[in-house]
Amino acid sequence: MKIAVLGLGLMGTAIARRLHEQGFAVVGWNRSPGAAEALAGEGIATAASPGEAIAMADLVALLLADADAIAETLAPPTTEALAGRILVQMGTIAPDESRDLAARIAAAGAEYLEAPVLGSLPEAGAGRLLIMAGGEADLFERCRPFLAALGESPQRIGAVGQAAALKLAMNQLIAGLTATFAASLGLVRREGIAVDQFMDLLRGSALYAPTFDKKLDKYLAHDYGSANFPLKHLLKDVRLFHRTAGQAGIDNAPIAALEAACLRGIAAGHGDEDYSALYEALVPR
Ligand code: NAP
Repeated sequence: MKIAVLGLGLMGTAIARRLHEQGFAVVGWNRSPGAAEALAGEGIATAASPGEAIAMADLVALLLADADAIAETLAPPTTEALAGRILVQMGTIAPDESRDLAARIAAAGAEYLEAPVLGSLPEAGAGRLLIMAGGEADLFERCRPFLAALGESPQRIGAVGQAAALKLAMNQLIAGLTATFAASLGLVRREGIAVDQFMDLLRGSALYAPTFDKKLDKYLAHDYGSANFPLKHLLKDVRLFHRTAGQAGIDNAPIAALEAACLRGIAAGHGDEDYSALYEALVPR
């Protein structure tokens, strides 16, 4: 199976490398040329346009920033290259955006599976992403070898839109857990309480989540430099959850507060840093 990876940002590059290592024939394309050049140096084929990449592949994986990036990348005449192929959308977009995309892909004579992922660069490199798929069961089965190379147990959630919604539900937890832990840690530090003692008690309680320890060094050093998942993309996902949950009649007040905190963090220059920089917006120094 030949795979085209469109979008060679953080995740697209990691996924293209993983697929190449797993023996797939991979061709990558990126809007700006630097990322493709890096992969070409590793023996991975690259294309000069998305249409050229699609023409070389059976399955097209999208690792683009958002729905606007997808619409620009697949705009005519690229759309025509899709006929007869499978398109797997792996970025984080809203359920309604995914359903609209599915309709456009079907009109182009191609098949569509949404397969957003939980996990980041280390998980992509090791084939341990949690993959949530939405689309026809038969198509999911035909995509399984590709998906299993990236995540051990890809799961079909249901119809197109349902996996996209589940991914937003997960990322709302990333934002929520990060924000509530940051506020608690901030109070602990302001009160001069030993952080080790706080963490020991927390680890022994039902309130603990592993993400707290994973990011603890970053909060303590106020250093969020090497981003696997940048704050600007967390803002995107918080906004998608805000809109989608609002349409579902869910109280938007908590997510609106998270959105405002992400915006303050980005205004303070943390947009390209790790999302845990949310701490700086919630616990100003
Ligand atoms: P990223 O590093 O910012 O890469 C974004 C990609 O989108 C780049 O290839 C960029 O191309 C491309 N792009 C942006 N606007 C475009 C446009 N108008 N036309 C064409 N290409 C455009 O983001 P990422 O971390 O790889 O994430 C990709 C997707 O996966 C996002 O939806 C993100 O939320 C999701 N995701 C990320 C992670 C993670 O840990 N990073 C985990 C799970 C899901 P240029 O290089 O030319 O800008």
